[in-house]
Amino acid sequence: MKASAAILLLLFVIQEGNSQKLRVFISVDMEGITGLVSSDQVGRGGSDYQMARGWMTEEANSAILGALDAGATDVIVNDSHGDMRNLILAELNAAATLITGSPKPLSMMQGIDETFDAVLFIGYHPREGTTDGVLDHTISGGTVDFIRINGVEMPELGINALVAGNFNVPVVFISGDKAVCDQAKALLGDQIVTVAVKEGIGKRAAKSLPLKKAHDLIRSQVKTALEKRKDMRPYKLKGPYKFEVGYRRSSQADNASVIPGVQRLNAKTLQIESKDVIEGFKFMRGLINLGRDD
Ligand SMILES: [Zn+2]
Repeated sequence: MKASAAILLLLFVIQEGNSQKLRVFISVDMEGITGLVSSDQVGRGGSDYQMARGWMTEEANSAILGALDAGATDVIVNDSHGDMRNLILAELNAAATLITGSPKPLSMMQGIDETFDAVLFIGYHPREGTTDGVLDHTISGGTVDFIRINGVEMPELGINALVAGNFNVPVVFISGDKAVCDQAKALLGDQIVTVAVKEGIGKRAAKSLPLKKAHDLIRSQVKTALEKRKDMRPYKLKGPYKFEVGYRRSSQADNASVIPGVQRLNAKTLQIESKDVIEGFKFMRGLINLGRDD
């Protein structure tokens, strides 16, 4: 009797241990942070940049608090904007671990693996060429006109969701402007929880929520999203994966077209094919970097 009771207790402890683990990965970009609309705010050296990175850190903290409210045991935050050294570590909630700096092999998704339960996108922006999309661009405003994967035109959120999907982790939440929330629903499905913190009036103006209201909404909706995570599927496409990079100028395609295995579809468009999402993702990023001529 005593031995079987001990085994039951042990099983209970093991089960409890498993069910309590909740690992959350947060990728934080800057263009979609509440109130921000200008390169003077999101560019290092801009006169409003120091203020803006404080707002970015507060918004990351709101998401961390929402995750903790939902019972997160482990929170990793990956700085995903520009040189990826924007978030202020001294002000970041101490429950989270920060990944900072660049370059990183998985860029905005550095740190993701199959041990995570859910991904959150904070401060995200819509793809290049979005009407009323605040600071719309795709990866590199000066170089990239569009990215298509298997024919689907992708905002950064789609590319990054595919990377997470490769590790079987669903994206459960996104915040940013209204346009990026619409793009997330169209691509990943209606079940994703979204918070539109501002609505674009063109590319460089917006109607914004007050900071406090946006932070409260993000905290409560992140908790809701994590509680519903079992309903959400990881984002996947069928392989092999065709990555198309549409450049701004033909000279940029000239630069990158010298790599073996790269197919030139037209003056400004290159394509590569890969059986592996991560390999294709890295190849695509390499082609963008090589194309840069600014
Ligand atoms: Zn950014």
